[in-house]
Amino acid sequence: MSRELINHMQRVSKLLQPIKTIPKDGAVKGVNASKSYQLMIDMGIIRQSLPGMYTLLPLGNRALDKLKRIVNTAMESIGAQKIVLPNLTDSRLWKKTGRLNEMGDELFLVKDRHKQRYVLSPTYEESITSLVADVKPQKSHLPLLLYQISNKWRDEMKPRLGLFRGREFVMKDLYSFDASAKSAGRTYEDVARAYRGILDHIGVPYSIVQGDTGIMGGIISHEYHYLADIGEDTVVSCNACNFQVNSVIFQGETCKNCGGEVSKKSAIEIGHTFLLGTKYSEVLQATVHTQGSEIPLVMGCYGLGLTRLLAASLEILSTNEDLRWPKALAPYTVCIIPPKENSKESPAAHFAYEIAENLMERNIDVIFDDRTHLTIGRRMLDARRTGYPYVVVVGRSAVQETPLFEFHDVNEGEREDVSLDRLYNFFENSASGRTTRSQIAV
Ligand SMILES: [Zn+2]
Repeated sequence: MSRELINHMQRVSKLLQPIKTIPKDGAVKGVNASKSYQLMIDMGIIRQSLPGMYTLLPLGNRALDKLKRIVNTAMESIGAQKIVLPNLTDSRLWKKTGRLNEMGDELFLVKDRHKQRYVLSPTYEESITSLVADVKPQKSHLPLLLYQISNKWRDEMKPRLGLFRGREFVMKDLYSFDASAKSAGRTYEDVARAYRGILDHIGVPYSIVQGDTGIMGGIISHEYHYLADIGEDTVVSCNACNFQVNSVIFQGETCKNCGGEVSKKSAIEIGHTFLLGTKYSEVLQATVHTQGSEIPLVMGCYGLGLTRLLAASLEILSTNEDLRWPKALAPYTVCIIPPKENSKESPAAHFAYEIAENLMERNIDVIFDDRTHLTIGRRMLDARRTGYPYVVVVGRSAVQETPLFEFHDVNEGEREDVSLDRLYNFFENSASGRTTRSQIAV
């Protein structure tokens, strides 16, 4: 194996992953209302730092980075440009739009040495609209789509279940500016297509429902939900047509489109899009010069809660004992387990390096469980609980005359003994966790 690849190889022995071991009697105590939350803590994916505020440990952050890359690709494909706004917003801007009072105690406020107050932003309509008012885009810039991926804060009364409802969270927020309501509608459709592209790529089933415009205001809104029992929202869907709506704006007993019967399911909101109109641009004077006059820009805003999406996808896919990730988001795609040191299998250890090198050359992200003082069984258990989609074990059958390797498809619960050729062919031909531009671009 080349020295360069060996240096790059990620090793479990170095990984900061504080795993809570299963007690000998097998009884897992203190099971949380959310299995994924419990598993994320137990498997060292996240760690609580303050109430409602969590550190993403290395594995959690790797998954988040993968999600960010998918989102960036989708955003670029609709012409959105990425920026970074300061996390603090002048509280006077929030006063102008009336939201300083409307949001009240949910806002974290910070004071500087001059007694000026700032909002630790939960959302950025005020900041972005004031930026655009300041820059004064030309007609050629429109539609102008600006987004960022950053931490947001909301002083929740009852933070719950880790990343589901935290006081600090990572969100992608996109804002669009158009010259007319008609073109703003087209932009809104473009973003909806990008959202479907992202969620299709992740592969967890989702629902798009008519939403409540709430504190954001605006004309149209849609929510993107994962259906899960622990969700705080309720989605009302028609059993006959495709009508779906958030229960908070549902009236009556039957579908308003076709009169059909409806059913209700708990859901976790992961995204929310709003066609805002000119609510913010009028107050903060974000305008464009057209046909001899200054007209307020027609805005849209579009959120995607990345840390919540991550947690919700885990909640849906995981078992009570093991984390299960969408393949596109798993912290590592393949875990390779070499033989235990000084065991009958240890002469086959070189195969483990060979496999790691081969997969890394195919740009597959591999982690190598080099804790060879532990049995294969023990390391297999950790790999399965952590939820790596594929595990390759260099074990008993690797020392046969025709060496074979245990290949575990963890998500499918399948195991097969395969030759090196079959193993490499599999990663050559299958969706293996690599994300290519063409898979997401819309
Ligand atoms: Zn209907």
